Amino acid sequence: MPSEIIYMCRRCGDLLSVEYNVDLMRPEIASNWVGRALSVWRYAELLPIVDRNKIVSLGEGGTSLNKCDRLGGYLGLKEVYVKNEGENPTGSFKDRGMTVGVTKALEMSMKRVACASTGNTSASLAAYAAKAGLECIVLIPSGKVALGKLVQAIIYGARVIQVKGNFDDALRIVEELCMTQPIYLLNSINPYRLEGQKTIAFEIWDQLGGKVPDKVIVPVGNAGNISAIWKGFRELYLMGLINRLPRMIGIQAEGAAPIANMIKMGSSEIKFVEKPETIATAIRIGSPVNWKKAVKAIRESGGLAETVSDEEILSAQKLLARLEGIFVEPASAASIAGLIKLSKNGLVEKDELVVCVATGHGLKDPDIILRQFPKPIEIEVDVNTLIKILSV
Ligand SMILES: *Cc1c(COP(=O)(O)O)cnc(C)c1O
Repeated sequence: MPSEIIYMCRRCGDLLSVEYNVDLMRPEIASNWVGRALSVWRYAELLPIVDRNKIVSLGEGGTSLNKCDRLGGYLGLKEVYVKNEGENPTGSFKDRGMTVGVTKALEMSMKRVACASTGNTSASLAAYAAKAGLECIVLIPSGKVALGKLVQAIIYGARVIQVKGNFDDALRIVEELCMTQPIYLLNSINPYRLEGQKTIAFEIWDQLGGKVPDKVIVPVGNAGNISAIWKGFRELYLMGLINRLPRMIGIQAEGAAPIANMIKMGSSEIKFVEKPETIATAIRIGSPVNWKKAVKAIRESGGLAETVSDEEILSAQKLLARLEGIFVEPASAASIAGLIKLSKNGLVEKDELVVCVATGHGLKDPDIILRQFPKPIEIEVDVNTLIKILSV
């Protein structure tokens, strides 16, 4: 097990990835999973942790996979599912990565951990660092983090530092900090985090009773998650547990869409976005560090990418809440907005099994809702007034 603290290849400068001994890539490994609860650690054999007694866990994973018949009906699709990652301990899929990443920090005897964040990474790291007794430093772009996420980082006791710049700027300086100081970096350039996140694929496979979706739709920011989910499906394939793979579909917000633009143009080069803009702050990222892995995932799987506008994101957020009772934050609604757009354009077919990954909980960003809807009306304590109002 590699114990060296290193994030990039010394020869080519590219990001690293965790690979397992071929002995583990056998279908029999899955027999160990059967008796365990649905969670990240159900799949411990395929997670890069040496000592399972030292795992830092808050009960992450095991999120519901909701069959969305009302949404499906609205779109004329038969099998639409939403994987609700908002059910994780701090309300986003980031917890799947942090349980592995922070355990790794302990394994490497690190005392301090750090990240740059659009909000959810810092909320998650702050919680897991608290549980592990580690000092946590988080850098966030000034004024661009949803309120719910900021209060999480604060209450879990992280040292929160606002940077007068965007996420990409904050990431650049935190990387420099961690390269020169004994502080463990837990952004998604850290390959161990992606290992935890790949369990989204394992759970989908488990929850569908061994079936493989035709398409998996994922909102894309720094592009770690779509890469991780693809890795998960590929490992199931290598183990001989599935005999085909889903197409990976990446959705970005129009104002922050370097990967989607590259894929749509069939280009071999990426053009980073200097000033990314979208109300979906969790995917407001112009220079996604995992872009190479994500482009590979989309192309290798025969998938595609699409952009959605802020209006489309907000209307998808409302639709999902009203048709299915699932309240997600705007970035998560991007996957639903993507599904709506693709199905209207004939790029998702009626009989296909589609899974949208809803990445984070709606309560993290209440401001965006209050800005769109009128305040509820107020009445005197009088039932007749109530009846009158309700029957108009
Ligand atoms: C982090 C995050 C994303 C983006 O994931 P990447 O791995 O950066 O592509 C999307 N939605 C939510 C809610 C997130 O917290």
